[in-house]
Amino acid sequence: MIFAELWRELESLGRDPGTGGYRRYSWTAADAQCRAWFTRQADNLGLAVEPDHNGNLWAWWGRRRPGAVVTGSHLDSVPDGGGYDGALGVASALAAVAELKDKNFDPERAVAIAVMTEEEGARFRVPCLGSRLMTGAVDPETARGLTDDDGVTLAEAMTAAGADASLLGPDEDLLADIGVFVELHVEQGRALAPLGAAVGIAKGIWPHGRWRLDFGGRADHAGTARLADRKDPMLPYARTVLAARRAAADSGGLATIGKVIAEPGGANGVSSAVTAWLDARAPDEDRLEKTVTTVRSASMRYSAECGVTLSVRQESYTPPVHFDQGLRDRIDGVLAAAGIAAPVLPTGAGHDAGILAARIPTAMLFVRNPTGVSHSPAEHADLADCEAGVRALALILEDLAGRR
Ligand SMILES: [Zn+2]
Repeated sequence: MIFAELWRELESLGRDPGTGGYRRYSWTAADAQCRAWFTRQADNLGLAVEPDHNGNLWAWWGRRRPGAVVTGSHLDSVPDGGGYDGALGVASALAAVAELKDKNFDPERAVAIAVMTEEEGARFRVPCLGSRLMTGAVDPETARGLTDDDGVTLAEAMTAAGADASLLGPDEDLLADIGVFVELHVEQGRALAPLGAAVGIAKGIWPHGRWRLDFGGRADHAGTARLADRKDPMLPYARTVLAARRAAADSGGLATIGKVIAEPGGANGVSSAVTAWLDARAPDEDRLEKTVTTVRSASMRYSAECGVTLSVRQESYTPPVHFDQGLRDRIDGVLAAAGIAAPVLPTGAGHDAGILAARIPTAMLFVRNPTGVSHSPAEHADLADCEAGVRALALILEDLAGRR
């Protein structure tokens, strides 16, 4: 089976031998290896690979023309990420095209496989950067100036990798040629396993955002400052973590504080300041707002009680995405006709498909993740399920590209 062969070659690229996690950051040596792998595989299938203006790769089956049926995903990873997030969608796309070529399918519409860049935002901190640049959701000048943890700008990183950052920006010509976009992705969460289904169809993406909380206190001596005299920002911060958990549970959403910086960071002192980042997601905007408002007001109350200042700033916000109903129904019909039961699922994770959905009829397929764990080396999908995903994707491409 071609999928297993593709996967074997990709599996070792950008993997840290110590943690077993992937560090495929955009415009690094690992990224170059992944791009070279993709180009080689597409070449083997007779597809013509071209980069676009924003660092994304496109492999075309047939001449690029309006109405193209596009599938694909991303090859970059979060720090020590799993092997399936993004990569599964790209490898499955190649395998699906190989399957269609094997049975001599002759598409009426152009078919393309896209590899989007910096989807995770792991290096330059803006997720879905490739699709956001393409659709004009991010200003190219701002993008060029984004820096990584070492202070390297995106423009410098692209130049070092042999790409031209001066061309970044909206790509209306390319967008005009895409008829539909279907992204296959490993499931992030655990909804398919209890349903006994290998493949699911995405309903939409929850609205989500990121908030920065700055707690300001007063540095003091851990051995001499009386408890009553302290202004310890760690106390309201700690209570805020618990409040976020409670607020999410009450609203049926999710809230996570996964990053925190304590200053000056001494083990024998009261902190002068604590900065924490709240990631919140919910099934709808009302519930998301309620979650964040609840956390914010609890945090303000705790801070006041401890004599600590607090400022809360929204760093990013993504409204809900509803995938195209017509396309979803069509995919559902194709899979049902083939005897594949694919449940419809919502998700709290952002994807390039969610960004492109603002401009193009877009859909997503999920492949069962038995534990639900993602953004971790423990992320997994069984080979049989990956093959079921390839088969489903091939059926969908055949249907979408085969008739007008
Ligand atoms: Zn992903």
